Formats: sequence, C-alpha cells, structure tokens
Amino acid sequence: MMFVDQQLYKKAFESYLREGTPIELSIKQARPTTHYIWRTRNDGKVRSSHADREGQVFSWDDPPVGGHPGEDYNCRCTAEPYYPEVSEYLHLTIDGLGTKSGWSNTDFVNHYFNGGGRGVTLRQIGHSQKIIAAFIDRRGEALKGQIASAARSTRVGLVSYRFDNTYNMTGIVFSIGDTTIGGSFSGQSVTQNGIIDLAGNLDLYLEDEFADPLDVGVEVDDYRPGSILYDNIHRPLNDYLRGRTGLPTGGPQRRGVRDGTPYDITGTWSGSVEGRIYADATRSKYTE
Ligand SMILES: [Zn+2]
Repeated sequence: MMFVDQQLYKKAFESYLREGTPIELSIKQARPTTHYIWRTRNDGKVRSSHADREGQVFSWDDPPVGGHPGEDYNCRCTAEPYYPEVSEYLHLTIDGLGTKSGWSNTDFVNHYFNGGGRGVTLRQIGHSQKIIAAFIDRRGEALKGQIASAARSTRVGLVSYRFDNTYNMTGIVFSIGDTTIGGSFSGQSVTQNGIIDLAGNLDLYLEDEFADPLDVGVEVDDYRPGSILYDNIHRPLNDYLRGRTGLPTGGPQRRGVRDGTPYDITGTWSGSVEGRIYADATRSKYTE
C-alpha cells in the first residue's frame, strides 16, 4: 500500500466503502501536489537504496526504480507533499484614470446652481486619478488579501469577489466627502503544488452626490460680493434685512434666491489583478 497522510487515507477509505473506488486510485486523484519529498523512517531498518532518497523530490508521474514510497515490498517510507518556495505577488492595475486636472470647489458649487441636476463622472471633472489613488492607498492591500482568500476557497477555478464600502475622501477632494466605492473581481485560478496562479478583471465603481454647497467650505475662500455663494446666499439675506430696516435694497443687480439642484457624481473603472500566492494562508503575506 502506498503511504499517504491520514486525512487523505481516511477519505480514500470512505470512498472505497461508499463507491468501491480502489483506495490507491482514489489517493492518486486526491494528491495535493504533483511532486513529493521522499521520507524514510530514519532507522536502521531502512534499505540503503531508500535511505539515499531521504529528502529528495520525486514526481508522482515518474516513479523511481521500485516505485513510490510504500509501494516496494515492506517499504515503510512515506511521501510528503512538496510545496516549493515562490515569491508571492499580486498586481493590481486600474485603467482609464484620465489626466485632466480637477474641478475646484467653486466648479462644484457652480454646477449645483447651474447644472440643472445633471450628473457628472469623476473622469469628466478630472478627479478620477486622485480618488482612485487614495482608494488603492487605503484599501489596496486589504482588497488583495480578500481576493487571495476568495481564490483559496474556490473549488472549480472560477474566483469571484464583490465589495463596497464608504470612504471619507474629504482630504483628497474637498467636495467629495463620504463616498461609496465598490466593485467586483472575477477571474480564474490554477492551484498546483500549493501555489495558486490567479488572473482576472477588477471592476470599480463610485457613487456620490453633491447635495449641499455649504458643506464644501467654499464660503471661507469664496465669500465676497460677486462670488456665487455671496450672490446666492448672502446677498438675498442682506437685501431682505435692508428691506426690513427701511434701507434701499441692493439695486438692479439684486437677485432672488436661486435654488440649486443636487447632482450625482459617479465613476466606473476597469482593471486587472494578476499574481501568484501560496494556497496555504498561514504561509502567505496575502490574507484577510
Ligand atoms: Zn522504503
């Protein structure tokens, strides 16, 4: 009988009882690796030809003279799964970030009053690069860990993972505060010798709304006669108070309060993830 680890043997035995699958065939199908390390019992009873093989790597497809461990008469040697060392990596790339320079806070406010509620994309308003860079900076490593974990738990080679969360991007683009960024990964993986090769597409989306110009703090640097905030918020109030106190109002340039319309800020991007990681999470630097 070929010696394998107990777990594998137990499974093989159960499948023999259930389905009559020969144990050896069953174990062959369940081998975790294409190669193994020859292990002897390390005592005086090991035949010298096998003692020479201690620690050597063999292929399951190419047995040495006399067969795999345990196959030769009275052989007590065992096959230890062979998991080679690799340098792990996961590369994450996002395409189509654009290079346009970004809207200022005044542009955001302007669009609130003049855009009629028309939605804008981050690419159009030139903030795509900054926001995605900030997202990758905050979330990139965790996302890699989650994709790695999805690849480990997959059975058929198809890996998919969905995510979304809220991020405060105020420090990046002031007019974009708490924003939702989500997406999905979908790809293929191949596991061999304890190493997973992984490649697939990453789709990202962002959803936000510009709803309140007072939130953006433009009044601090844009609060002066002629500015959009002054015209829309301060002047009507000023004129109203002047009216109440009997002073003449601001004259022909006086305007009523213009209502702004909230608008959506959205974005979609696609990219890719590609890499090579250990199937055993305890060995890996990419974990959840
Ligand atoms: Zn032996």
